[in-house]
Amino acid sequence: MKHLDGKVALVTGGSRGIGRAISEALAKAGARVAVNYVSNQAAADEVVEAIRSAGGDAVALQGDVARSEAVDLLLAQMLEWGGKIDIVVNNAGITRDGLLLRMTEADWDQVIDTNLKSVFLVSKAVAKPMMKQRGGRIINVASVVGVTGNAGQANYAASKAGILGFTKSMAKELGSRNILVNAVAPGFIKSEMTAKLPDGTQAEYLKSLPLGRFGEPEEVASLVVYLASEGSYITGQVFNVDGGMVM
Ligand code: NAP
Repeated sequence: MKHLDGKVALVTGGSRGIGRAISEALAKAGARVAVNYVSNQAAADEVVEAIRSAGGDAVALQGDVARSEAVDLLLAQMLEWGGKIDIVVNNAGITRDGLLLRMTEADWDQVIDTNLKSVFLVSKAVAKPMMKQRGGRIINVASVVGVTGNAGQANYAASKAGILGFTKSMAKELGSRNILVNAVAPGFIKSEMTAKLPDGTQAEYLKSLPLGRFGEPEEVASLVVYLASEGSYITGQVFNVDGGMVM
């Protein structure tokens, strides 16, 4: 018996990077996992295949989590497939970096909608079935820059800071229904998102890390599994997974 046997999970942006590691780790712990993606179907299919060939159960579900109609459809498909929803990981995120004077309104809107509005839309959609079930776990993927800020990432940092306030508010609203809401805040984790950063920027980050290395997606995923399966007296908290970058 695995500790997430019988549980159904949704991972937004579960097809690549940190989301992929979370999807696979939840499945390994026994959960049935809906792997959401927006455009790269091949990547999502690959994750589903990997989970199935390891003996787990998963499905790929397309849907832009920044759009309410798409989220409603995603949830309907998710419930049809899984029959219920126990765990949601709001992980989908993008960057559109630039200094303030060069940042366009579209760069601002896209990042806020994809990273923050999506967390509101998905949490709202799952709150009802979770309330009926009298329980659930919502885990939001923020970032350490939501606390520290970062030059060139005003839109991204604002979206991640917003997730922290949203997480704590939801923890207070939903606690009496046994729905636990927490956030994880990664530092610099190896993924396609961070691979895009210039070598000089990567070297600067590396210098600020007491552990002297970048993180692996699996090192974020293991905390998410803990918060999804154990941690029954933990809600409204933010956990940095950052190799000591921020303390
Ligand atoms: P990534 O490798 O770029 O993967 C992003 C994932 O999000 C993909 O699965 C992508 O799907 C999906 N996605 C993007 N926009 C979406 C939308 N509108 N609707 C649904 N899915 C969408 O990113 P990552 O580095 O793993 O980051 C994952 C999360 O961790 C993000 O929230 C990011 O901000 C956060 N984070 C990352 C780091 C880091 O160092 N990597 C640090 C702090 C926080 P497609 O494949 O279809 O595009």
